[in-house]
Amino acid sequence: MPALDDAVLTLPAPERVGAPSAWALLPGDLAALGPLRGDPERLFSRLQRVADWGAEGPAVGKSARALLAHTDLSLPEIVEAHPSADGATRCVLRTSDGHRIEAVHMPRATRNPRVTLCLSSQIGCAMGCTFCATGTMGIVRNLSAGEIVGTVLALMHRLGPRSGHQLTLVFMGMGEPLHNLAHVARAIEVLHHQRGVGLSPNRVTVSTSGLVPGIDQLGALKVRPLLALSVNATTDEARARLMPVGRAWGLAALKAALLRFPLRHGEKILLEYVLLRGENDSDDDAVRLAELARGLRHNINLIPLNPHDATALAPPDEETVQRFARRVRALGCLCTVRDSRGRDVRGACGQLVQDPARAPRPNPGVSAGGTPGSSPPRTR
Ligand code: SF4
Repeated sequence: MPALDDAVLTLPAPERVGAPSAWALLPGDLAALGPLRGDPERLFSRLQRVADWGAEGPAVGKSARALLAHTDLSLPEIVEAHPSADGATRCVLRTSDGHRIEAVHMPRATRNPRVTLCLSSQIGCAMGCTFCATGTMGIVRNLSAGEIVGTVLALMHRLGPRSGHQLTLVFMGMGEPLHNLAHVARAIEVLHHQRGVGLSPNRVTVSTSGLVPGIDQLGALKVRPLLALSVNATTDEARARLMPVGRAWGLAALKAALLRFPLRHGEKILLEYVLLRGENDSDDDAVRLAELARGLRHNINLIPLNPHDATALAPPDEETVQRFARRVRALGCLCTVRDSRGRDVRGACGQLVQDPARAPRPNPGVSAGGTPGSSPPRTR
C-alpha cells in the first residue's frame, strides 16, 4: 500500500517566498499599498483585463509602477506549448523561481465558442494516487494565488479567450486544490471581480481527492466554485489501496460531506470515476457507485484511465466502459463518459507531470520550447 505523506494531513504544503504577487491584489489591496493617482478599481482593471493589454502585457503608468514597486509583477512564462490533434494544447509555464507547471487549454467550437482551462494548484502533489503521473512527483510547493491568476491571464493573452465570459476553469491539473485552498480561493475571488475577468463561480470547478475538512471549507467560501470529487473506488479497502487519502476518510465520511455541501439552484456535484481494468470496473462496482450517488444531486463522469509510464494500471476496453455506464444509468444516475482531450501530448487527466525524461515529443510544426504563436489551436 502506498505511503501517505504526513504533510497531507498535518502540515501545510511549502509556500512560495518572495514579494507578494500583484496579480492577486484586489482593488482594496491596491489602495492600501500607498497613495495612487486615480481610481484603484481602474488600476485593477488595467492589470486584469487581457483584452486591453498590449503585446507585452498591461500598460501601467508611472505612478502605478511606483505603487507596485514592492510587488512581483512577473507572469508565469509559457515556455512550451504542445498542440494535440484534438485541438487542446498542453502548456508548460515557468514560475519566477524557475519551477515548471502545466495547464491545458481546451477550446470548444460551439455556437458560442468557449475555452476550458485545466489548471494546476500545486507544483507536484502530496496525495500519491496510484493512477496519476503527478502523484509520482511528490509535493514541491503550493502555487500562490498570484501564480494561479497569472497562469490564467498569460494563457488568455496568448491563446484566448480575451473575455472571461467565454472561459471555464477546472482545477484538475497538478496538485490537490484543497491542500492549497487559501490561494485557490483568493485566485477565484480575484478572477470573479467584475472590473477584471468577471468569471462566474458557476464556471469554476474544484476537484478534490477527498479531503473532508477542505470540502467543508470550500462550501463556506464567499465566492464558491463548483465541487468535483474524484471517487475512483466503491469500497474503503479498494479506495485506500488506490488513493492513500482514503485511509483518512472513508466513503461514508465523504458522502456525509457531500450531503452537507451547500448547492445553488440546479447545481450538481461532479463524481469523477477513473475506470481501471480489473480494479474498479465490475458490475458490483457499478451498483455500489450508484448507491454512493443516491440522494446526491450528481453527475457521474467516467474517465477510462489515460495510460502513462508511471503506472502499471490500465483502462478497461470500450465495451466494459459502456456496460459500466449503462448499469449506472439503469440505477437512476446521471452518467457521462469523459472525452479526455490532449492524450496524444500527455495533457489528459492524470498525465500531467514535469519530468524531462518523460516529456512528449512535440507535434510536427511546433518546436520544443516554442508556443503556438500565430497558429491558433484547432477546434473540434
Ligand atoms: S489525482 Fe490529483 S490528488 Fe491524486 S496524485 Fe494526482 S494530482 Fe494529486
